[in-house]
Amino acid sequence: MRIILPKPRGFCAGVDYAIGIVEQALKTFSEPVYILKEIVHNRTIVEDLNQRGAPSVMSIEEVPAGSVIIFSAHGVPPEFHEQARQAGLKVIDATCPLVRKVHLEAIRYASKGYTILYIGHEGHDEALGVIAESPGSIILINDIAEAEKLDLVSSEKLVYLTQTTLSLTETAKIVDVLKARFPHLEEPPSEDICYATTNRQMAVLEMTKMVDLVLVIGSKNSSNSQRLRECAQDLGKPAYLIDNKEEIDLAWLEGVESLGLTAGASAPERLVRQVIAHLKELSPGATVEEIEFVAEKMYFPLPKLAV
Ligand code: SF4
Repeated sequence: MRIILPKPRGFCAGVDYAIGIVEQALKTFSEPVYILKEIVHNRTIVEDLNQRGAPSVMSIEEVPAGSVIIFSAHGVPPEFHEQARQAGLKVIDATCPLVRKVHLEAIRYASKGYTILYIGHEGHDEALGVIAESPGSIILINDIAEAEKLDLVSSEKLVYLTQTTLSLTETAKIVDVLKARFPHLEEPPSEDICYATTNRQMAVLEMTKMVDLVLVIGSKNSSNSQRLRECAQDLGKPAYLIDNKEEIDLAWLEGVESLGLTAGASAPERLVRQVIAHLKELSPGATVEEIEFVAEKMYFPLPKLAV
């Protein structure tokens, strides 16, 4: 079997940033540091940090007064900052700078009287945070069907923004529908779908043309990982999302001569290495080839934490 690993894959700069902040907090504070929900959407990372003294909590109320709370890479509604302060908590914000950019765009357009069409997934943490910036000005568009039936009362000033981890092709189709229906629709000042989502999707599309089967390492609630699986499936190849090597079904590998293995932006490289070792056990003599489809150098410097 020939195993192809695309570059880039796995951690993006925003995930490195968020995990780096938790690591720093664990070194800086002697007490446990609490993470609101999941620092990034990956089960392995969340369980590992939990064991090391950074448990996840589902609400601000669960955190004892005087403790540190970390807001995740996905961002939070603005009122969470005030709620945490009122609860006597020290807040550390690990929101990815590229998610924060979309928050700032929402605030700016809302303050100028725009109606904002936000293309995103209902209930996703990132969408919840952005929409909460100005709920009265933002309309969530989940898919093409919603774009087609959108009924706007007043739409003189109209702009669209998007979640950072969407499918490039699906989003382009939704934008086309919206532009056809509302020709004065304005675009965001810069692309909201982030560089990491874009690069990983472009790499997986190229890799998929070369293989019989695609495996994507990532958790089920990881939006960008799900989109990678869909990219491969859209090209007519079987593709599966797995959290780890235990989730590989041997039936998937029958007759497979070449396999593409990638990882979502929140999946650690050690899981890739574990899957490769497992595949080599299953298919002795398997070769591994890494191919760089897109060069990537993005990095966000960590903030200094004050005690
Ligand atoms: Fe930031 Fe993009 Fe990574 Fe999300 S996927 S954390 S927006 S760099």
